[in-house]
Amino acid sequence: MTEKEFFLQHRDKETQDWYRTRPASVKKAILSCPPDECYRGKDGKGHYILRSYVERKGEPTRLTMVHGRDSFWPGTIVFGMPPEDLKICGCGKWRPPTKQQIAATKGDRPK
Ligand SMILES: [Zn+2]
Repeated sequence: MTEKEFFLQHRDKETQDWYRTRPASVKKAILSCPPDECYRGKDGKGHYILRSYVERKGEPTRLTMVHGRDSFWPGTIVFGMPPEDLKICGCGKWRPPTKQQIAATKGDRPK
């Protein structure tokens, strides 16, 4: 996505100001992985929604993603994903994990 396309999709001043004040590396990540899409891994696996861009001075921008209910780890948060490891899915059908999936995940935790 180009900067112009991003501004056309996000016409609200708040989002545009947020974008304008990001460091260059984060802007690049935003255009590569816009905030309002669902994503797959490069291999086509997984189904994620983007939760945040992680800005650390002097380090490459990473993404925090959440697996959807039809992904391989429903509800699991993934930290530190490189934007280049993701591709836009765009199905618009990302859904949060079900209550049963969340309960199953909790059951797997060591006590
Ligand atoms: Zn999708």
